[in-house]
Amino acid sequence: ELSQEETGDGRTDVERLDKEYVFGTWSYQSEVEPTEVTGAGGVRFRDARGNEWIDFSAQLMCSNLGHSADAVADAIAEQARDGAYFAPGYATEARAKLGEKLAEVTPGDLSRTFFSTSGTEAVEAAIKIARMYTGKQKIVSRYRSYHGATYGSISVTGDPRRLKAEPGIPGTIKAPDPYAYGSTLDPMESLEYIDEMLMLEGDTVAAVLVEPIVGSNGILVPPREYLPRLKEIAHDHDALLICDEVMAGFGRAGEWFGCDVFDVKPDIMTMAKGLSSAYAPLGATIVTPEIANHFEDEMFCHGHTYAGHPVSCAAGLAAIETYQEENLIEHAREVGSYLGDRLDELAADHPSVGDTRGVGLFRGIELTKREGERVPFGSRLDKISRGNTIVDDVTAAAADGGVYVASMINTLIIAPPLPITESDIDE
Ligand code: PLP
Repeated sequence: ELSQEETGDGRTDVERLDKEYVFGTWSYQSEVEPTEVTGAGGVRFRDARGNEWIDFSAQLMCSNLGHSADAVADAIAEQARDGAYFAPGYATEARAKLGEKLAEVTPGDLSRTFFSTSGTEAVEAAIKIARMYTGKQKIVSRYRSYHGATYGSISVTGDPRRLKAEPGIPGTIKAPDPYAYGSTLDPMESLEYIDEMLMLEGDTVAAVLVEPIVGSNGILVPPREYLPRLKEIAHDHDALLICDEVMAGFGRAGEWFGCDVFDVKPDIMTMAKGLSSAYAPLGATIVTPEIANHFEDEMFCHGHTYAGHPVSCAAGLAAIETYQEENLIEHAREVGSYLGDRLDELAADHPSVGDTRGVGLFRGIELTKREGERVPFGSRLDKISRGNTIVDDVTAAAADGGVYVASMINTLIIAPPLPITESDIDE
C-alpha cells in the first residue's frame, strides 16, 4: 500500500516512484514533476493533496466524455471478462459493430477501418495505405502540424518535435499553413503555393495529409473555402486527401469531425483520442470502398498484435453511443459558441491576449508580448530548447487556481470535455 503523504522532497510516494522509474514523454527527465491524481468525475479531477481541478483541456484533448462515462467503463469490464483478446482472424462483436458505427458517423462513403491503438499508428497506417494504393511514395503535409511520434508519423509532422528524428523517412515534403494571425502568407494564397508544389513534384505525390483544424500547433481554423479547394488541388494532381482527425474529431469542433465543419469528404481519415474518449487506447484509419477494394488483390502489408483489440473496440463503441445518446455533438456546438464569446472578451480587454480563435470546444488563446502587436512570447523552437516559456508560467498560474490547461509554444489550448456547462466556463 502506498501512502499518499507528502515526503521530505515534497513528493508523494507515488510521485517519487513515478519520477524514478517512468520515462516522461517529450521532456527533459530532470524537469518532469508528475502530480499524483487520486480520482475524477465529470469535468473535474482531484490530486493527492486534496486539490480539485477543472479539466480545461480534456487532458491531452482526448477525454471528450469527461471522467465519469460509466457506460464506457462497463463495456470495458464486460469485454475483458467475456474474452479480453482474440487474434485478428476471429471476429468479435465489439470490433465489427464499431466498424459499422464508424461508417455511419464519418462523412461520405468512408466505410472500411483499420484499427490500431493510437493516433500515431492511425497516421502510420494511412501513409502506408496511400503509398500502396497510389503506387506513389511522397506525402505532402504542413509545417504547423503534429501527426505522431513514430518514424513515419513524426516525419510528416511539421512542428519542431520532428527535428530530433530527422531526416526521418524519405519522401516527406512540408507545405505552408493557413495561419491568418501569425504567417506572412494569406491562407488561401498558401493553397496556390501547394498547387504549384504538387505540379513541380510531377506525378509522385501519394497524398496530402492535413489536420482540418490544426490542434496542438495553435488551433488554426482555415477559411470556409480552404479545405474544399485543397481537396480539389490534391485530386487534380492524382493525390489523395488524408484528414487527420485525431484531435479535431468526435465532437471537439461542434461537428462529428473537423472536416464536417467545411463539408469535405476525405479519401482517408485518421482517428484516436475522442474515438474511445481515452478510456482505452484506440486508433482508426478509415478509407473509401475504392481504396479498400484495392487490397482485395494486393496484400495489406500491415498490422499489430493489438490491432482491433476487443477491449478498446468495446470502449470505442460505447463512447460513440454515448455521444449519440447524450446529444453531445450538438451540446459542444452550443456551449462552444458561449465559450468563444467569453474568450473574445479576453481578447478585447487583456493586453497579453493577441488572438482567440477556434470552433466548438476547440479553441486557443495566443499570447502577445505587446498589446495590439503580433509579438509572440517564445519561439517555435522553445519547445525543444531547455527552460520554460512564458506560456508555461501562465499554465502554472492556472494550476495554482485549480485549472488544468494545456499549451503549445505560444498558445493555450482550451478544449474541455464536451459535457462542460456554461457555469463551468464562467468559473
Ligand atoms: N495526429 C494528431 C492531429 C494529434 O493531435 C496527435 C496527438 O496529439 C496524433 C496524431 C498522435 O496521436 P497519439 O498521441 O495518440 O499517438
